[in-house]
Amino acid sequence: MPLLRSLATKAGIIRTPSDRETQLEQEGKWREAQKLRLKQFAKAPPNSNELSLIHDLIHADQRILFQVQARAAQLQTEKDAASAREPQPKSSATARPVKVARLESKLLESKAVRSVWWTSSDTPPKQLRTECLDGSREAIWVAERHRHNMLSQVPEGPAKRAYLSLHRQSGWHLSKWQRSECAAVGGCCARDCGCCTRSRCFDLAAPCYGHCLSYCPCCAKARGFTITPDTIDDDKMLPEFSVGRWQSVKHSYEACFMDAHIWGL
Ligand SMILES: [Zn+2]
Ligand SMILES: [Zn+2]
Ligand SMILES: [Zn+2]
Repeated sequence: MPLLRSLATKAGIIRTPSDRETQLEQEGKWREAQKLRLKQFAKAPPNSNELSLIHDLIHADQRILFQVQARAAQLQTEKDAASAREPQPKSSATARPVKVARLESKLLESKAVRSVWWTSSDTPPKQLRTECLDGSREAIWVAERHRHNMLSQVPEGPAKRAYLSLHRQSGWHLSKWQRSECAAVGGCCARDCGCCTRSRCFDLAAPCYGHCLSYCPCCAKARGFTITPDTIDDDKMLPEFSVGRWQSVKHSYEACFMDAHIWGL
C-alpha cells in the first residue's frame, strides 16, 4: 500500500500522518512537520463544514480563557474586598461592581455539552445543574468539556494534527502576531507586566495560558475601570474572526489567525 499512501499524501487527502511527517516529528523538526501539514491542508481545501468545526474549536479554547479570566477577576475582587475591610483606602480601579458573576446558561443548554454529559446515561446525573456562575470551577470544567467535544468533532487530518502539535508547544501563543493583536486592544502585551506569559489564574490545577480578555484584572487596573461582559461574544477584547472566511490567501487576517492557532509558523 505504500504507493496508494504516497498518492493520497500527494493529493492532500490522507487522514493519518505520512511517513515523512512522522519522521520529521521524531527528528524534532517540528516546524518542518507543521509546514508539511499546512501543505497537505492547502492541497485539499476543507469544505465549509470542516472550517466551521475548526472555528468552533478555537472559539471553545477562547471560552475556557474567558472563564479562567472571569475567575481571576473574581479572586481579585475577593482580595480587594478583604483589603477594604482592613483600615486602608479601597481601590476603585480593580473593584468590580456587584455583578460579579452571571449565569452562564447558553453553553450549558447547548446540545454539544449535553451530549458530553449524558452519553453514558439516558438521564442527567443527579448533581448536574443547568447553570453555573461565570468564573466558577464548574464553569471552567464545563468549558473544558465543551472544548473536548468540539475537538472530537473536527475530522482527522492535517489541521487537527497541527492544532494538537502546536498546543503541546510551550509558549505557542506568544507569537509576534498574537502579541501585537493583544497589544492593539490594550491587553497586557502592550505593557511589561508579563501577564500573558504566565498562567491566567493562580488557583487552577493546570495552568491556562492566553492573551487578555475584558476580565483580565491587570488590564482593568491599567484602564481604570472594569468591564463585565455578559457572554464571551460580548467581550470586545475578543478578536473578531471567522475561520469560515479562510482562504489560502497569505497575510489575510483569517490566514494570520489560522496560523496563530493551528500552524504556528
Ligand atoms: Zn498585565
Ligand atoms: Zn497578551
Ligand atoms: Zn491583561
